[in-house]
Amino acid sequence: MKAINIEKEIKCIESFPDEHYLKIIREVGFECDCCGKCCTSEFNDHVFLLDDDTERIIEHAGWEFLRPAPYFDLCDNLGRFYVMGYALKTKPNGDCIFYTGGRCEHYEIRPSICKIFPYMLHREPDEDGNIEFRQIGGLNLHGLYHNEISDESSNEILKSVKNYESGFLRQKLGFINEIERYFKENDLRNSQQMYDRMIRLYHKGKSMEVYVFFRGRFEKEEISKQINNPE
Ligand code: SF4
Ligand code: SF4
Repeated sequence: MKAINIEKEIKCIESFPDEHYLKIIREVGFECDCCGKCCTSEFNDHVFLLDDDTERIIEHAGWEFLRPAPYFDLCDNLGRFYVMGYALKTKPNGDCIFYTGGRCEHYEIRPSICKIFPYMLHREPDEDGNIEFRQIGGLNLHGLYHNEISDESSNEILKSVKNYESGFLRQKLGFINEIERYFKENDLRNSQQMYDRMIRLYHKGKSMEVYVFFRGRFEKEEISKQINNPE
């Protein structure tokens, strides 16, 4: 996605009519029944972290719970991958590393995406390829519906969702701009051929360098299949 399109998308989210979104929240009347599915591989293969989440987790839990987010954005001609942020590690069965015995072990510092799930506000294609705003994830597949949601709660949800979605896109925008600068400075180029080759080698057991965008710069990480990256 180009920087200009991301800027447009941020504007779309910010100008999405509050009343319309509040109406959806109230009509759906979602209530979490604490089934825990969203913390497992049944619902999510990773938990993406905004920079503030990453900082909070480093401070209160430690670096050891982090990994480069999967689905790397690109690979340079020297075979190094780049990705726009960190994710929480997963357990061998694919569940979130913080998920223990049906509860979140670090609930107080859980990432922003966990706080807003299943609410969302971003555009993605449906099964027919029509791109539209999506507002609720996994509708009717989890939780309880048609509960009364207070004005205070729905306003809080609205604010958190808009903050999260625009924050995600701002991080993406920063990543794209930094890639452009970094590649120019270091005479690098994006290579899909190298991307495919390195992924094949990775699956055969080779470790790889991944540059993770964090707080405006790249952190170099080395990963191998042993550290549990599902890419
Ligand atoms: S951080 Fe906590 S709430 Fe979020 S997915 Fe992991 S266990 Fe669930
Ligand atoms: S948000 Fe949904 S999937 Fe997650 S614990 Fe609540 S009901 Fe279950």
